[in-house]
Amino acid sequence: MSLIVMKFGGSSVGTPERMQRVAKRIIEKQQEGNDVVVVVSAMGDTTDDLIDQSKVLNPNPPAREMDMLLTVGEQISIALLSMTVHGLGGKAVSFTGWQAGMRTDSVHGKAKITDIEPNRVFKALEEGNVAIVAGFQGTSTDGEITTLGRGGSDTTAVALAAALKADVCEIYTDVDGVYSTDPRVVKNARKLDEISYDEMLELAHLGAAVLHPRAVEYAKHYNVRLVVRSSFTYNDGTSVKEEAIMEQGVVVRGIAFDKNVARISIMGVEDVPGVLANVFGALAAEGIDVDIIVQSGVADGKADFSFTVSGDDREKAIGVIESNRGVVPFRETTSESGLVKVSIVGAGMVSNPGVAATMFKAISSIGVSIKMVSTSEIKVSCVISAEPLADVVRALHTAYDLDTAEQVYVGGPSERR
Ligand code: ADP
Ligand code: ASP
Ligand code: MG
Repeated sequence: MSLIVMKFGGSSVGTPERMQRVAKRIIEKQQEGNDVVVVVSAMGDTTDDLIDQSKVLNPNPPAREMDMLLTVGEQISIALLSMTVHGLGGKAVSFTGWQAGMRTDSVHGKAKITDIEPNRVFKALEEGNVAIVAGFQGTSTDGEITTLGRGGSDTTAVALAAALKADVCEIYTDVDGVYSTDPRVVKNARKLDEISYDEMLELAHLGAAVLHPRAVEYAKHYNVRLVVRSSFTYNDGTSVKEEAIMEQGVVVRGIAFDKNVARISIMGVEDVPGVLANVFGALAAEGIDVDIIVQSGVADGKADFSFTVSGDDREKAIGVIESNRGVVPFRETTSESGLVKVSIVGAGMVSNPGVAATMFKAISSIGVSIKMVSTSEIKVSCVISAEPLADVVRALHTAYDLDTAEQVYVGGPSERR
């Protein structure tokens, strides 16, 4: 008998019909002789709707109350899914994050799982039930309800799979697996049969929404067998594993993009040791993640530098810099939001010179200028303006020979994306 964790994302349970389909699939899996633990997200656009609702009442709500609100979405899903399983003659018990033993730190809105005590989940399985666990939520040691960050149900599933020593963790979503890029943007994106943890981790960090980055970290760390597949078809999905077979000659495995990037520039900063440590220390202390940092030229002992943050953090970051002016004086700050970071990822890049040059050429060939660049062993990222994103991704997809005529894609487009 195998223990299988099945995770269903919001679009997979967005309507009563889809909920029914998921319930049938769960029962099938159990009837095949498996112990089945299900992790489920909030239905459809519920999380976005709850956020919109809160913003009407308070544009800047306390993070604790936000978590209290958002966890409701997953709680609706677990109850409805469990009822649906019962309606079809199956046996299921639903659990909130707390009941399933998901313990986290106390950072509201992006909590990290610290420990899992899945006793009740095991007991439910022993009694012949499907255990249905709310994704994306946990409780801190001080008894507060927390959430794991947008898309965090994937992380719940993988972490639970590790804690339960499950044989496999299957992430069911609205596409057939992990593609060479977002199949909603490039119609002939190619489905990958396998991808390595490291490449998937980069893609996820760089914006490929199909898996939450921390879920991939967990899978790598605990060596969880991870499969991404469709909840609408029975097609084979994508295996995420330690070593993935690379097709011959393929240097770039995938293209990811992050559409919510802001650039902040600080001009006329005293060019003395410790300045960067000071500025970025102050930003880190406020929980602001800084991404690409570029120092551009020193004149008369003064330097200019630019860096990127999430668009959501732009104002907060400028506030931190302004309030730090006494420690690090500067002439002025400028900022630009609505930028995009587009990235190419592939383990084969290390040994292939000229990969970045191909990227710059493909982007410039459609008349787009590159604002910032950052590279690592297995990725190159360029920050550009948002407008021509789809054209840029398509051009890169072709430039790295990722196109294919074959395309398997099921599921309705989501308005919110
Ligand atoms: P779920 O609700 O199941 O968690 P998500 O919307 O979080 O689903 O993730 C699935 C979506 O990820 C797909 O619909 C697709 O648009 C997007 N996506 C982005 N990059 C990729 C990629 N490389 N491969 C597959 N899907 C991707
Ligand atoms: N419902 C949460 C979100 O929309 C978590 C998830 O779907 O994974 O981000
Ligand atoms: Mg998701």
